[in-house]
This record gives sequence, C-alpha cells and structure tokens, in this order.
Amino acid sequence: MSSFSTSGILLRRIDFSDFDFIITFFTLNMGKLSVIAKNAKKSTKRFSGILEPFSFLDLVCTSGRGNRLPVLKEASSKQIFPGIRKNINNTAYASYWAELINKWMEDGQKYKPLFYLFLHMLKELDRGYISGENLSILFQIKFMVISGMHPNLTYCITCKTRTEHVKSSMFFFDLDNGGIVCEKCGSDSKYHISFSKGTLKQLLWIQNKNFSIASKIKFTDKATKEGLRFLETFVPYHLGTEPKSLKVLQQIRKGRQHV
Ligand SMILES: [Zn+2]
Repeated sequence: MSSFSTSGILLRRIDFSDFDFIITFFTLNMGKLSVIAKNAKKSTKRFSGILEPFSFLDLVCTSGRGNRLPVLKEASSKQIFPGIRKNINNTAYASYWAELINKWMEDGQKYKPLFYLFLHMLKELDRGYISGENLSILFQIKFMVISGMHPNLTYCITCKTRTEHVKSSMFFFDLDNGGIVCEKCGSDSKYHISFSKGTLKQLLWIQNKNFSIASKIKFTDKATKEGLRFLETFVPYHLGTEPKSLKVLQQIRKGRQHV
C-alpha cells in the first residue's frame, strides 16, 4: 500500500463507528481530503488528542484500496490554536468558517488562496487582538472574493447610480439579484437587509485591500452589527445552505449581549 504525507487543517470530524472517526482536512496541496482514523476514539494515546477541530497537522496516510478512504497513520501538530478552543465564542466563529469552506469546496480541487486565508484567520483568532465579530466580517468578505460570489456593492442595481454619488444614507440589499439598491429605488418592506452608507464604505474598503491592510480596520459598532447581519444572510443564501454552526453562533452572540 502506498503512503503519502501532507499537512492540513481539520475541518470536520464525524463518528464512523465505536472506534473510528472520519476526518475531513483542508490541505494545501490536495484540497479537501477525507480520511479514516482507526481506533482514534478508543486510544487517545495513538493520536495524542490532537484530532480536534481546526488543528493544523502534519499527516501520514496510506492510500485506500479501490473507493475506500485513505487511512490516517500518523498525525503530529504544527499548530493547535488553544486560544480558539478554550473560548466558546471563538470556537463558534471558527466552526462557521469551517462549515462554509467545507460546503463550498469540491473534492479533488486545490484552493490555495482560501487555505492561506483560513490559516491566517485561525492564527488571528487564536492571538485574540481582533474580535471574532470583526474577523468574521473580514473572512466572509474575502471568502466571497475568492469564491467568486461578487455581490455588487458599487452601484444601485436599479438606477445604476454609483454609491458614492447617492445622497441618501441608507441602502438595501437585494438577495435575489446580489446587489445593493438605493433608498430611492427600494423600501424596507421589499428588502429585508438594510445598511448605512458608513457600513457600505467599510465593507468596500476591505474588499479592495489585501488581508494584512484590511485587518487594521476599526469597525464602528454599527458597521459590525450591520456587516454581520448582511454577510450572515448573503453568504449562506448564495451557497444555498443553512449552516448549523451559524445558528449556534448567533445564539451564543445573543446570549452574550444579554449578560
Ligand atoms: Zn437607485
């Protein structure tokens, strides 16, 4: 049996039997890779407890025969991000990003820019200098660029006026047509998502900057709230999915606001 080595970030881990896990990794060179980790549930010594969500690991696998999944033989940690796992809020954000990535990626394709984005986001979340809320705005904006979702934020899709020339301070977002509508052309009753001109400016700014510059932005509270509401509606809508992890995330956020 031939073996191969790679490194990857753990995206998803599911129980396969009383003893085994099926694990999906996001690897740099092979894209999405699902493997079976035999006896990983029983013997924690075997993989020394590192097969945890978002761990960045070096892997050695043997190729599966026929259609069978490769078997994970060895795993060692490159980075395990304790600052994410110890914090329920951070775990919720990272879980949401991982679910979006897992749902969007197809097997057998490499996604190097997305891999580097995800790794960078996990490192930032682990460091804790930027809040999970703001990192999630950055992640979703950059994820949309990489995955080609391209919502139109530069002009009103009805009257074609560029946003910087629109006088009103409020915009709506048309989910079906993937673009913004100015206050004159739209109304609250027709479109459920609205945001202010200030929020729109901040979103556009980070869309056009590279990540290290974009991550220096200081979002206003209003932009954070409006940006998250817009992105957490648009991104799942565009992917045609209702991420379970998003529901959990929103519940946790709501709970924190009531503390
Ligand atoms: Zn208009």
